[in-house]
Amino acid sequence: MDFQLNETQLLIQRTFRDFVDREVKPQAEAIDENKAFPAELFKKVGELGFFGMRYPEAAGGSGLDIMSYCIACTELARGSMSLAAACCMQSLMATYFLYRFGNENLKKEYFDKALTGEKIGTICMTEPNAGSDLMAVTSIVQVKDNHFVLNGQKTWITSAPVADFFTVLAKTDTNEKLSFFFVPARFKGVNVGKSIEKLGVRGSVTSEVSFENVIIPKDHLLGEIGKGTVGLFEILAEIRVMTAALAHGVAIAAFEDSLEYAKTRTQFGKPIGKFQAIKMKFADMATQLETSKQMIYHCARLCDRKLPRDKEAAMAKLYVSECANSICDQASRIMASYGYAMEYPIQRYLRDARFTLIGGGTNELLKINIAKEYGL
Ligand SMILES: Cc1cc2nc3c(=O)[nH]c(=O)nc-3n(C[C@H](O)[C@H](O)[C@H](O)COP(=O)(O)OP(=O)(O)OC[C@H]3O[C@@H](n4cnc5c(N)ncnc54)[C@H](O)[C@@H]3O)c2cc1C
Repeated sequence: MDFQLNETQLLIQRTFRDFVDREVKPQAEAIDENKAFPAELFKKVGELGFFGMRYPEAAGGSGLDIMSYCIACTELARGSMSLAAACCMQSLMATYFLYRFGNENLKKEYFDKALTGEKIGTICMTEPNAGSDLMAVTSIVQVKDNHFVLNGQKTWITSAPVADFFTVLAKTDTNEKLSFFFVPARFKGVNVGKSIEKLGVRGSVTSEVSFENVIIPKDHLLGEIGKGTVGLFEILAEIRVMTAALAHGVAIAAFEDSLEYAKTRTQFGKPIGKFQAIKMKFADMATQLETSKQMIYHCARLCDRKLPRDKEAAMAKLYVSECANSICDQASRIMASYGYAMEYPIQRYLRDARFTLIGGGTNELLKINIAKEYGL
């Protein structure tokens, strides 16, 4: 397959790369240290068109391909995984169900504004006892004549403390299967807990959300009752290749920082990059970066061509996130004590990269899925 980027994709890459170098990198440490949602940068990413990038022009987006989207994701994560994680939530899982199933009023009030970053959204699937096993979700919606009533407890919800709306996964009292509901944060009975203290992506605020007798209008059902997983499967490959693209971004950052260090840090009379042990690390890291890129681009192309891609997306997410964690580890070793200092970003890359082992489905679960493709 030809992986040469076209002019539009190169323009996207240049635009996001310049933006990240100019505006994100200088703030990345503060975003992590303050553990606060980077509201201003989030808005600027909206102004760059990122939130509507993968939606058609008729829906207010820019109708770009998944390849372009992945390229932008990688650049954002190269600067700040916290910012990138919040932005990716907004541009994909938070808005997809609204775009696909929302009525015109909801779209006008929420979707259009989410594309500019004026309104913030998120998806609520995970519960204290339902992580990988989403069928164990116990959030329950009672179906009444004129409305629904939602009760349930969600956890690990990205952007929840700043969200204007939630896409909530629940069962109904009429159907054992899962459904999605649109729930504005202002609805009575919606309670957002305090932020969860995390190892990484600390500027992408995450918290519990509880729903207590929340009355939801009938037209806030997104899709059909019991068919929630249909919509989820439509974007599953995209979620996974996007997560791979994020992992690739942080890996590039770790590679670039440690390369610069290896060229300037002198020991025993020469730059440490001239020692064979260090050269071997760079050869391995560079090879991992290249194969990661090829997997992401291959999978993005499959998505763009609407070809079967579930196995490739699972493989890309698994492989690239493992490579990213390995690259961050190697970069930290190259920088030795400086890799261990809070003053340098390597420690942040290491912490942030671990998120990509979990997001988009844990790597253990993905291995089970990949093995299934071979009849195991
Ligand atoms: C930073 C962050 C942000 C998040 N944001 C959101 C969000 O916005 N919305 C949302 O809904 N969720 C969110 N999540 C939750 C995330 O989707 C879950 O953490 C993920 O699905 C895994 O669930 P769990 O943590 O409960 O782990 P579990 O499912 O309990 O898994 C625990 C361990 O068991 C393994 N395991 C589980 N089942 C199997 C199996 N069948 N075979 C082999 N191994 C298995 C797992 O791989 C893992 O190692 C977020 C998580 C993080 C860390």
